[in-house]
Amino acid sequence: MRYISTRGQAPALNFEDVLLAGLASDGGLYVPENLPRFTQEEIASWAGLPYHELAFRVMRPFVTGSIPDSVFKKILEETYGVFAHSAVAPLRQLNGNEWVMELFHGPTLAFKDFALQLLGRLLDYVLEKRGERVVIIGATSGDTGSAAIEGCKRCDNVDIFILHPHNRVSEVQRRQMTTILGENIHNIAIEGNFDDCQEMVKASFADQGFLKGTRLVAVNSINWARIMAQIVYYFHAALQLGGPARSVAFSVPTGNFGDIFAGYLARNMGLPINQLIVATNRNDILHRFMSGNQYVKETLHATLSPSMDIMVSSNFERLLFDLHGRNGAALAALMDSFKQGGGFSVEQERWTEARKLFDSLAVDDAQTCETIAEVFAQTGEVLDPHTAIGVKAARECRRSLDIPMVVLGTAHPVKFPEAVEQAGIGKALQLPAHLSDLFEREERCTVLANDLKAVQAFVSQHGNRGKPL
Ligand SMILES: *Cc1c(COP(=O)(O)O)cnc(C)c1O
Repeated sequence: MRYISTRGQAPALNFEDVLLAGLASDGGLYVPENLPRFTQEEIASWAGLPYHELAFRVMRPFVTGSIPDSVFKKILEETYGVFAHSAVAPLRQLNGNEWVMELFHGPTLAFKDFALQLLGRLLDYVLEKRGERVVIIGATSGDTGSAAIEGCKRCDNVDIFILHPHNRVSEVQRRQMTTILGENIHNIAIEGNFDDCQEMVKASFADQGFLKGTRLVAVNSINWARIMAQIVYYFHAALQLGGPARSVAFSVPTGNFGDIFAGYLARNMGLPINQLIVATNRNDILHRFMSGNQYVKETLHATLSPSMDIMVSSNFERLLFDLHGRNGAALAALMDSFKQGGGFSVEQERWTEARKLFDSLAVDDAQTCETIAEVFAQTGEVLDPHTAIGVKAARECRRSLDIPMVVLGTAHPVKFPEAVEQAGIGKALQLPAHLSDLFEREERCTVLANDLKAVQAFVSQHGNRGKPL
């Protein structure tokens, strides 16, 4: 499988190189040159497979030529073996034909484990084979950091530096990062906000001199391998609900358009999906595009669903590429105009094409809490605020009551106690067994000034298993 850039100017890469690449050299994102397509018979024959075996069948075409089948199988068995639920991504029924797919049974209790547990193992295999070491620098407002650290902690050839805004992540989220101890794990609390952290990561990718030749790898969802891993659970859910003989709809709480883009790919690979709902919080650039063809940057609002607090949606470029007939030059011009003017609309027929599949809703904090309370009253289930946004959007935007609706349950509610409390739910939430002593564990973290040079100096001092690069 070869991968091409959405802006058409960067060289095509194989899977191994795309795994180690961040943005393409032309500023675009990598996508498969040709998407594999499965027949209905083929998909139907996968019914009842354990999650890791289904994962092998869905993802195999993407890694062919880079990872031997026997190795890939073993990696997948290990990856999904660490999940605390034997079904890995169980479905829970809320209402007639309405389901939540629980994607929070991984080590850090959010769906990002599906991709980052795999990414860590894939990196380990590829780097070992090449005899290379890499450095990862990532910024987090909460969930990505812990999932990336959990995914990479056993990688001998990776040093991972995660920047979070000092005193601005929840205690559970901070402890999930800082209590994982290892000489290759480095938590940095920046005296600034999330944007400051993200700017430092971007600047470090742009000018890598301080790394003394060591390669920098991206762990955010611009990394293709993360999207790839998320395609699998759409197949998993559909197969349990009568697919592919029957269509399924999905409602996806989204910020950077990563998770929902994986659903779009699943459909293009042959899975009958009749509707994808983009569920955003008040940071609603994607909803403004889907409802009114306006993709315009606005100011950032802090919400009860912080993992979706974004101003621009990095993976949306991957959908725009398809909507523009995969014309890299057209995309480069469009993204350039966005950079200059902070917004754009697309031609009417391209927008209409998107609307055949996608609907959307923006849900504010008050509605999020109302939905948590409503679902608790109806079912006794406590939803996390991101999942609640997905449920609200599903109920408002659903096209057909005959078609099963699956809401992606992106996080465990125990990670977001503030929203649960504001929803008026008195029930105390328990951390799962593997995290029950989280508040007693030793923490390790370095606080640094909001200063790029200081951060880069720290990385070069510690980037080789705690020693200088
Ligand atoms: C990251 C995250 C999201 C948003 O995912 P995208 O791929 O950016 O759309 C939603 N919910 C939770 C809990 C998350 O951690």
